[in-house]
Amino acid sequence: MSLVPELLNDSLADTHVMAFEELLNDPVIQKYLHELVGPTGMPVAAAPPDGEVTDEELAEELGLELNDVRRALFILYENDLASYRRLRDEDSGWLTYLWTFEYETIPEQLESEMRRLLEALEQRKQYENDNEFYLCGHCQIRFEFGEAMEFGFECPQCGSQLETMDNNRLVDAMEMRIEELSDELNVSREEVVDA
Ligand SMILES: [Zn+2]
Repeated sequence: MSLVPELLNDSLADTHVMAFEELLNDPVIQKYLHELVGPTGMPVAAAPPDGEVTDEELAEELGLELNDVRRALFILYENDLASYRRLRDEDSGWLTYLWTFEYETIPEQLESEMRRLLEALEQRKQYENDNEFYLCGHCQIRFEFGEAMEFGFECPQCGSQLETMDNNRLVDAMEMRIEELSDELNVSREEVVDA
């Protein structure tokens, strides 16, 4: 596929060309972008033009406040999802920022984030399984067995008797999330534990 050269010079027309269409159909990627830029920035993040675009052009094209567009662009920039170059108008001295969306690495970024989350969950589950917990029902504060013993099984804050706390539901919820993530990442549980 080749682009009509005139289209390349017309950045307003460019904003109609979706550069990462397939990527943006993925609900996981939509959610990822939404978490980064929020609902206000989502129109910007979800409609990356092919080629360079200015913040003013995006604001006009999407019918958004310029500040909202700039905020979204900056968040994308901070997360390595957009870059810019500055042009100075020789007559007015005004600076124009030309933005390029760089979504190529999103799948990789998402995968490594999911791997980190999976490892953290495995560790947390291990901690929940390895420890016994006590609860002050009044303050809703949880203590590990050792802490509870140190306090003589009395809440240091209110003096109530601490009660043993069942964390099965928490562990079950973690287990479910771990399985979902493992499925998404296509890894077996053993691989994760060994890593
Ligand atoms: Zn208490």
